[in-house]
Amino acid sequence: MIIPVRCFSCNSVIGHLWQRYANGVAEGRDAGEMLDELGVKRYCCRRMFVSHVELIDSVAPFSVTRPQE
Ligand SMILES: [Zn+2]
Repeated sequence: MIIPVRCFSCNSVIGHLWQRYANGVAEGRDAGEMLDELGVKRYCCRRMFVSHVELIDSVAPFSVTRPQE
């Protein structure tokens, strides 16, 4: 889905960094290098990026609203 706005463990705001991280990795840059550059130092926050799977584009077509009864 969408990356969580805050880290689950330390509650640090990380959601705004996702796009820059994903763009860098898509360009072939090292994930650890990107996180260093973005200032993500704690390993609890780093795992949020490394373990994240962006599924929103796969799931969104199925999220239709139900008709009112
Ligand atoms: Zn954290």
